[in-house]
Amino acid sequence: MAKGAREIVGMVCTKCKSQNYITTRNKINMENVKLVLNRYCKVCREKTEHKETAKLK
Ligand SMILES: [Zn+2]
Repeated sequence: MAKGAREIVGMVCTKCKSQNYITTRNKINMENVKLVLNRYCKVCREKTEHKETAKLK
């Protein structure tokens, strides 16, 4: 089993800056790619863009 290739990142709403989701990403394949997901933000009460952040709250 390969391990250590994935790291846990937080997903932060680009509108209100609150961290709503946690996901994992593949370090090797995604080195220079920032994850952006369209997810529902319960603070904004709408679907917003969420960007990854290295910091976990
Ligand atoms: Zn938000």
